[in-house]
Amino acid sequence: MARTVGRLAPSPSGAMHLGNAFAALLAWLGARSEGGEVLLRLEDLDRPRCPRPYALAVMEDLAWLGLDWDAPPVWQSERGARYQDCLATLAERGLVYPCYCSRRELHAVTEASAPHGAAPVYAGTCRGLSPQDRAAREAQGRRPALRALVPAREVALRDGLQGPFRADLAREVGDFILRRSDGLFAYQLAVVVDDGDAGVTQVVRGRDLLPSTPQQLWLQEELGFPHPRYYHVPLLLAPDGRRLSKREGDLSLRAMSRRHSAGEIVGRLAFWAGLLDRPRPVTPRELVGEFSWERVTRADVTVR
Ligand code: GLU
Repeated sequence: MARTVGRLAPSPSGAMHLGNAFAALLAWLGARSEGGEVLLRLEDLDRPRCPRPYALAVMEDLAWLGLDWDAPPVWQSERGARYQDCLATLAERGLVYPCYCSRRELHAVTEASAPHGAAPVYAGTCRGLSPQDRAAREAQGRRPALRALVPAREVALRDGLQGPFRADLAREVGDFILRRSDGLFAYQLAVVVDDGDAGVTQVVRGRDLLPSTPQQLWLQEELGFPHPRYYHVPLLLAPDGRRLSKREGDLSLRAMSRRHSAGEIVGRLAFWAGLLDRPRPVTPRELVGEFSWERVTRADVTVR
């Protein structure tokens, strides 16, 4: 079997919290337990929201936990030219079109149709614009976003933790954004290009990203990248049932490190993951030998 290449892909838009650490620990263990490599990618596409000091702090936090990586980190903010190339490849195949809809217009059409909490499916308003329609909008000074023209096709995968998952691209995903109107490349495009270029074979991340996977699988096919294996891990939830976020300052790793050692935190994360029967101080390295996806919990964990 080909060598496993896993990755840590934090978005450095704030301090790392326990939920990020949980996913990172499992990603690291997933790769290391197969004798694989671990890569680090900083998902700082949105540069103003992801200043360098945040990214450096995330790297320090990962290292403090005992999670290492095998190559210099990759910064999404430095890969614009490569994303542009891949966008051009898709455009040559007729899979990209400009969308001039404003946020307000999008909201008006999608609000009624989107099931609660689901990403709205784009109604396709700009799909069939003629060159004249486009020119008229450009003349009004409208800057388009670029959307993928998705086929009416079902994409299915078997997630290593969540099991089978499928989506009909046209009906359930819709023509998703590849580049925003302000020029920012979309996560969906960047993640596929980055994982593909780096030869990533194993993607471990929060289960909130499972619904994004069908469109990523489709983009991989269109760009000629092999599919990695996927493991979507449970989320850590606050006692009120919401997902931990960067707002819960007290659960930031920095704040916790004032009261707990790295070993204690890793032990707690491993206990929540189902890898230890009680929390005890441990290093990630010590968990490698015993690690198996069979043992990892499928259910979200409420953090008290
Ligand atoms: N940057 C994302 C996060 O921090 C992960 C994206 C991915 O793994 O595909 O949740």
